[in-house]
Amino acid sequence: MRSDLRTEFLNGLASNVLEFLLRAEMGGDVLNSVIVNIVDPPIFWNEFHRAFENGTLNERAQRVFAKVLSYLLRMTSRDTTTYRNLASRPSILDKIINSDQQEVREEGYLIKHILSTNGVASTNMADFDFVPGGRHDNDFVDFRKIAILPTADELSSNKNPALRRASYLDDPEGKKTRVADYLDNTFRLLRDDMMHELKEDTDIALKKKQGRQRGLVINGIKAVDIYAGPENRRTRWGLMLQCGSDFPVLKGLQEEDRKRFFRDDHRGSRMLRHQSLACLIGDGAILGLGTIHRDEELLAEKPPIIVFQMEGQISLSKALLQLKTTKHLRFIQIDCAVFAFEPVLKALKRMRVLPLSEEILFWEDGNEIASPPVVVTRITGPLTRNPSIDLTPLLQTPNTITLDSSQVTSLLAGLEQRVSLIQGPPGTGKSFIGALLAKALHMYTSQTILVVCYTNHALDQFLEDLIGIGIPREDIVRFGSRAKPALEDLGVHNLRRQGARRSETEWAVIDEMKDNASLRLSKLQVSFTTLLSSQPSPETLLAHIESKDPEFFHAFRVPDPEDMMRFVGRKGKVVDETFLIRQWMQGGDARMFKYEPHVQAAHRIWSMDKNRCQLKVEEWRSDILRGVVEDLCMAGELYNRCQDDLSRQFGKALVEQLRTKRIIGCTTTGAAKFAEDIRAASPDVLLVEEAGEILESHVITALSRTTSQMILIGDHKQLRPKVKNYALTVEKGEGYDLNRSLFERLVLKGFPHVTLSSQHRMRPEISALIRALTYPDLKDAPETKNRDNIRGVQSNVIFVNHNHPEDEDKRISDGADGGSTTSKQNTHEVKMVLRIVRYLVQQGYGSDNIVILTPYLGQLSHLRDTLKNETDPILNDLDSGDLSRAGLLTDTNSEKKKTRIRLATIDNYQGEESDIVVASLCRSNPSNSIGFMNSPERLNVLISRARNGLIFIGNSATFERSKKGGKLWTDFLDLMRKGGYVFGGFPVKCEKHPNKRRVMEQPEDFDAYAPNGGCTEPCGMLLKCNVHPCALKCHPLRTAPNQPNIHATTLCTTLLRGKCSVGAHTITWQCYAGRPSTCMRCRIEKQRLKQLAKHDLKLKEEREAAQREHELHMLELEAKLRSERKAYEELQRAEEEQKQKVESPAASCMIQ
Ligand SMILES: [Zn+2]
Ligand SMILES: [Zn+2]
Ligand SMILES: [Zn+2]
Ligand SMILES: [Zn+2]
Repeated sequence: MRSDLRTEFLNGLASNVLEFLLRAEMGGDVLNSVIVNIVDPPIFWNEFHRAFENGTLNERAQRVFAKVLSYLLRMTSRDTTTYRNLASRPSILDKIINSDQQEVREEGYLIKHILSTNGVASTNMADFDFVPGGRHDNDFVDFRKIAILPTADELSSNKNPALRRASYLDDPEGKKTRVADYLDNTFRLLRDDMMHELKEDTDIALKKKQGRQRGLVINGIKAVDIYAGPENRRTRWGLMLQCGSDFPVLKGLQEEDRKRFFRDDHRGSRMLRHQSLACLIGDGAILGLGTIHRDEELLAEKPPIIVFQMEGQISLSKALLQLKTTKHLRFIQIDCAVFAFEPVLKALKRMRVLPLSEEILFWEDGNEIASPPVVVTRITGPLTRNPSIDLTPLLQTPNTITLDSSQVTSLLAGLEQRVSLIQGPPGTGKSFIGALLAKALHMYTSQTILVVCYTNHALDQFLEDLIGIGIPREDIVRFGSRAKPALEDLGVHNLRRQGARRSETEWAVIDEMKDNASLRLSKLQVSFTTLLSSQPSPETLLAHIESKDPEFFHAFRVPDPEDMMRFVGRKGKVVDETFLIRQWMQGGDARMFKYEPHVQAAHRIWSMDKNRCQLKVEEWRSDILRGVVEDLCMAGELYNRCQDDLSRQFGKALVEQLRTKRIIGCTTTGAAKFAEDIRAASPDVLLVEEAGEILESHVITALSRTTSQMILIGDHKQLRPKVKNYALTVEKGEGYDLNRSLFERLVLKGFPHVTLSSQHRMRPEISALIRALTYPDLKDAPETKNRDNIRGVQSNVIFVNHNHPEDEDKRISDGADGGSTTSKQNTHEVKMVLRIVRYLVQQGYGSDNIVILTPYLGQLSHLRDTLKNETDPILNDLDSGDLSRAGLLTDTNSEKKKTRIRLATIDNYQGEESDIVVASLCRSNPSNSIGFMNSPERLNVLISRARNGLIFIGNSATFERSKKGGKLWTDFLDLMRKGGYVFGGFPVKCEKHPNKRRVMEQPEDFDAYAPNGGCTEPCGMLLKCNVHPCALKCHPLRTAPNQPNIHATTLCTTLLRGKCSVGAHTITWQCYAGRPSTCMRCRIEKQRLKQLAKHDLKLKEEREAAQREHELHMLELEAKLRSERKAYEELQRAEEEQKQKVESPAASCMIQ
């Protein structure tokens, strides 16, 4: 009775008060003294924690208890030892951590974290900004413990992760731990960027957030077995999840067709791709994330089976535990590019030392720059003595090489510094210097060079440069997929294919490893079967409590049947050793053992009420289950380790072959993905192209222990590396600076860098713009001068100004645009761009001369859709990837052989160039917001892509009045105005009548005033025939300056008419074809007559034949008639003779 009252008090009033206190925003000290007064002396507190341990607290009271406990542990003004001891009890901590309530669990992680930090809790424990550990079950002080894929609790946690601001690298106090802090923070920042995207996708999947569900959703899934691959090709293990029903697309397909669907059909091969991310959801809550292991045979089963691999002990064991109790399991595929993060994160975890850390982390102004261990003096010597020396004989290159002074300095820096930064403004030939450096190192040292580029496209180009400069193909190997066909032979898979011959000992090792693996696998399978089987039996329970709860075990002990007579229970059941525990569980008494001393002594146990009794049993059951899951996880972990050892063993041969290569080329993700293989080949020199576009984490994970030299080639004035989480960017200004490349960071720190100065791309009007805005020392190489003007326009640089408003595309999110969830479009600009491009095509420019650029994916997709009717835009790899991720790219195989105009976002066109750039700036709004177009780097890239013609279309007012970036755009537009480049429309000029100029303000103006690309005058020039005039409106005379006059080649299609040679018919012909020598109608007439004659002849022949037959027939008839007549006559005669005979005997005599 008393106990009940107490429980009521704890669950009610006490919790009310404490909850209020914890929630109230009173000062720390006041709260502190109030709470301390409540718990000390501990009369109330002892009741409270005992009730928690016994499970009599309701959900809210449990929450309050966990919060008070965690509060007490964090007190800095008092000794917390008592509370630490209390919290360490499994009956407290385990219960909190395994609670059903997320809030309670979160307190548990914090408590566990506090307990793990020895002694007094840190004072800034409450500042979550930069203190790692304790937020959820995947938050640790040691970043290497953090599982790369998040746990379910991490995904539901709203707490900000622990991240350092970039300034910690400048803290002189932090020098001692700087390398460790750096690796730690690099990992955390990059992982947070991944989490940002992943969280968004899972929120959409769980319908917490609006958005397009991009992955597949499968309901009613069931875990049926353990997967480990076919016997001869074992893989890491996974769970086999059977779908609740068949995939609708497979309806009606036969077994073979089902398999074929996944193997060959493009829809099937896209479904549930290998290594794609998926989420297991149980009764609406996330159980865990993992990856899909694609097994087509299993997918083709009916119902299909999906193999799901989970990593991370915590996630896995939680998910397995819940598998048992969850009623409805859902499987959701998540379309998040985890594959781009995972290898880099894993590589960071493995890094224990940071090569070149002297330069990367500790360089200060005034430090001397160290030399690499090997200096190519054969080149640097002569070059220092005579910078204008001809390097052709020294480098044995196929073509003559003379360098300008900035190229000489760059080459010397690259060869003489352990770490060198070479800045290459647009068009200055960055990769040429890279190729020269590689060639020098290849010729005069025996070092291995790892070449890393950001895109496959750039990598291919660089490798081709290397081959072009005379490095033998056999010395080069290329990691990663999507090589151009011409470089297919460099692929690392060719090495793999060559295979390896293994010695007998090696085979013995492999066999032993295999045996080991299969042993682990069978343990894993046993554990899984146990997990799937029903509730633990009384025997299992008894065995469990023997050590766990000996008091209870003792109370349930059945006196040894050997000693006594065999007891027989009610209904004649044999009393065995589980008799008493079964009695107790059913709420009964000990029956015939009631008076046994050990039962009597355990009065407390035998008098427990039914509720408490059930709670106790439940506790044992979940303990047992947890044990099974632990065994399973352990067996799985050990099995995976065996598999990893095996694959490493198989990879050894590849490493041997890799060691024979001198140049290893890969993309940044490739470098991380194949990090182990590459590391084994121990490259000495790391050469990074496009280093300004690459995340620092990607560069440092490409370093291996043997790397003793690093050459970074890039440009920190162009676009920064791409990241997903805007909050972490330099632009956001919160100091995390995730997208600041190593290149930029070192340059900003004052690390010496050399800059290539001579640009070979832009005509002077264009380069003048970036010289004024960004590169004051940029020089124009001779070939950029005296180029032809763009035909048909009034200026080579044009800004088409307008004020038509933009519209929004809600389907696409442009994360780079300040984390925006929508993208922008501008329909007016789309129409104008289309007409401008059409006009340029009329001037003779082809799709290989023009590119359309725009900052926004939304505008890109709008342009693409509109252009589709006119031309077939080719999107570059990255853009089509982005669009298909946004779910907008539906029809890619339109086979129309039309002009294809290249179309790209600015960000994805970095590193490329075109004769003419047409840029749609898109933004136009009264609030003057220009989003990420405020970035000087983006404008710089946009301006510097064009060789000969640069055309912008946009609302200048929006850009100039923008709060952020307004100054930049005003500077830029001032330059444009000074040059006379700003127009109220598109300024055309008739090439034939140069005085006829017009500014096209509306899209319709083009049809009205330049329908054929000239002016509105009739062309009137004589065509090739020299007789007839051209019927078009005025148009350009040549498709290019050195091309013949169009009229000299255009066929005259004027229609002519006249009488035919016979003079009977009127004939018509196109002028170019000449007068036909024969008259068609005459020919037809002749034909007709011939046909007629033939017909007549045939008729005549037929008639004659019929006549002949008829006559023959008549003759036959006549003959027949004649013979019949004759016979008749004879008959008559005979009759008459007979008559005469009767009349005269003489006659009768005559007859005889
Ligand atoms: Zn004209
Ligand atoms: Zn003609
Ligand atoms: Zn003409
Ligand atoms: Zn005729």
